Amino acid sequence: MKKYALVTGGSRGIGRAVCIKLAQMGYFVLINYKTNIQQAQLTLQMIENHSGSGSLMPFDVANPKEIDMALTKWQQQNPENYIEILVNNAGIRRDNLMFWLSNNEWNDVISTNLDGTFYITRNVVKFMMNKKFGRIVNIVSISGINGMAGQTNYSAAKAGLIGLTKALALEVAKKGVTVNAVAPGFIETDMTADLPIQELKKIIPAQRFGQPEEVAELVGFLVSDKASYITGQVIAVSGGL
Ligand code: NDP
Repeated sequence: MKKYALVTGGSRGIGRAVCIKLAQMGYFVLINYKTNIQQAQLTLQMIENHSGSGSLMPFDVANPKEIDMALTKWQQQNPENYIEILVNNAGIRRDNLMFWLSNNEWNDVISTNLDGTFYITRNVVKFMMNKKFGRIVNIVSISGINGMAGQTNYSAAKAGLIGLTKALALEVAKKGVTVNAVAPGFIETDMTADLPIQELKKIIPAQRFGQPEEVAELVGFLVSDKASYITGQVIAVSGGL
């Protein structure tokens, strides 16, 4: 029987690497994205090139109606199956100092990074609890642990996700569902393409940015059977930052 994993923001960066990792582990991967269909198709092609399987599931994680429509449609088409792995990875940055931060910059970051995880997880977790097995991994950030100047919106969203992770882990542990957070430091993706890499490398103990695959490895472990006694944790992949 096929096992299903849903990765939000699977079209690029860390999400793409996670999709490929989960496909290598034998999961049928539902690749979510917002607008970038070409990149999402490329993720699918990369999966299929390695004999994996998946399909695209576009929706805006900030839009509860779109989420419910997409997940309800999938469930109706797959009545015997459920999504047993959920990786809440979709995220955006809209950096600005607090006194310049607009309402839109605040709201967009909170709704995409934090609200989205709530809407999707609320829908998916009930099936995991019924089946007495599930794995939820939320991609947070060092910014949500330490705070980062210019990122009050983003740090607040990621810190909120850490709280959600810990509280939900307590609610569902007895049902065989684990909930953990992975906190990347600086990873080379489109999201960090505008940052001064040479300057920032100097403050990273490992003296380099990480690769998406280095984050995906940890996600792969956390969703595996080997990690069944790990829940409610926040684990950094940050080169020591
Ligand atoms: P990218 O900018 O490379 O990719 C972002 C992904 O999220 C894309 O697939 C994008 O889809 C999707 N996405 C954005 N908004 C939405 C939305 N509203 N609905 C659905 N999908 C959406 O980001 P990264 O891979 O760098 O980041 C992935 C996660 O890791 C994020 O949560 C980020 O905050 C976190 N992170 C990243 C770090 C880094 O250094 N890169 C450091 C710490 C945390 P589309 O292609 O359609 O736009």
